Amino acid sequence: MIILKSPDEIEKMARAGRILASTRHQVLEAVRPGVTTAELDAVAEEHTRASGAVASFKGYRGFPASICASVNEELVHGIPGERVLKEGDLLSLDFGAIWEGYHADSAITVFVGGAAPSGEAEKLVRVTEEALEAGLSQVREGGRLSDIGHAVQQVVEGAGFGVVREYVGHGIGQSMHEDPPIPNYGEPGRGPELRPGMALAIEPMVTLGDWATRVLDDDWTVVTEDGSLCAHFEHTVALTGDGARVLTGD
Ligand code: MG
Ligand code: MG
Repeated sequence: MIILKSPDEIEKMARAGRILASTRHQVLEAVRPGVTTAELDAVAEEHTRASGAVASFKGYRGFPASICASVNEELVHGIPGERVLKEGDLLSLDFGAIWEGYHADSAITVFVGGAAPSGEAEKLVRVTEEALEAGLSQVREGGRLSDIGHAVQQVVEGAGFGVVREYVGHGIGQSMHEDPPIPNYGEPGRGPELRPGMALAIEPMVTLGDWATRVLDDDWTVVTEDGSLCAHFEHTVALTGDGARVLTGD
């Protein structure tokens, strides 16, 4: 069941989103060769707490950290730890914040040290971000849910990359994961009609190679089956009476 949010509820999610964006900024400032992913997690935890919010991932089904940090062939749900980041590593960071019981969820992929190690890698990240923008542009009254995934898939496959099937976006509100699931692929014009009050986390996950994934023995870290590089971008967006409002933007 899709839970529609009142304007007051969307404001609480927007507050969570602003705190998340500020935390993301702090963590990105700390990303450099030689830093560990645990150190980035500590920055996120401290900043989120100092902002009066709660980091939503910590304790979620036993997840031990405040952010997910996934490197290179790791797609999502990487556990921060003692891994030391190197120049040119492809780092996906996923953030969640809760303000007064309402969630915001957002992810970004960057190159450690700033420069892409190859043209293909640079294109992968650029296309994944463009796919997110294409998905967000479909959040409009009267549209249908599958328009979002269709737009994402067009951009990704048009660039020759793979769209991950096993993990999808989701509704969001008082829970991090609510209905509806939002696949990053499919035919347009299907599924529920998009209505004001819907809050959605749209999150394309894109691979340089095949889109099949597997989970490592830590029961969390998702990697590409073929070891290819992958990228992940995510924003939380609300559809209001005045149109789409991205709640986790800068
Ligand atoms: Mg996320
Ligand atoms: Mg999400």
